[in-house]
Amino acid sequence: MGPIIEPVMRLINQFSRLPGVGPKTAQRLALFVIGMSEDEVKSFAEDLVGAKEKAVFCPVCGNLMNRDDSCCSICADPSRDASLICVVSDIKDVLAIEKTREYKGVYHVLHGVISPMDGVGPDDIRIAALIDRLAKGNVSEVILATNPDVQGTATAAYIAKTIRPLGVKITRIAHGVPIGADLEYTDEVTLVRALEGRTEY
Ligand SMILES: [Zn+2]
Repeated sequence: MGPIIEPVMRLINQFSRLPGVGPKTAQRLALFVIGMSEDEVKSFAEDLVGAKEKAVFCPVCGNLMNRDDSCCSICADPSRDASLICVVSDIKDVLAIEKTREYKGVYHVLHGVISPMDGVGPDDIRIAALIDRLAKGNVSEVILATNPDVQGTATAAYIAKTIRPLGVKITRIAHGVPIGADLEYTDEVTLVRALEGRTEY
């Protein structure tokens, strides 16, 4: 038995499962929660459960949407150019690009990248859903905006090869995004330049 009582240890373990949270941070977060008022903790717990209950993935693009809606706010927006699809690996990339306010097309979120070492193959990410979208027609360009790291580059290459027969224009974001960098952490000006400077794949 350590100096930490079991219920608090469980809380620490829950926090340490979160991405980017090491054992020390998990401990700090757990102790912070213990220091909160009972009302605050209850509302925190309700928001956790509520977000999970209400948030589902858009059947069209894979972005987050309200469970009661038929698609996400971006897909539903008539002012967006639905013929331009930006393919990203994660929802956080949608958020990063949306923050620039420059992109007027729609998205396709893969929910991952091809990574044989992690056991993730082409069928494990939303590539088939992308092909379905393209097969319906009305798409003029697909921008491959996966991160410029090894897996992101390989995923872009695989998708380009797979959708090439469909005859749609395929572009790749420019190298304004530093090699190996995360779209999420790229500053907005660089991200806008990367999108604007995209080149035909
Ligand atoms: Zn959508």
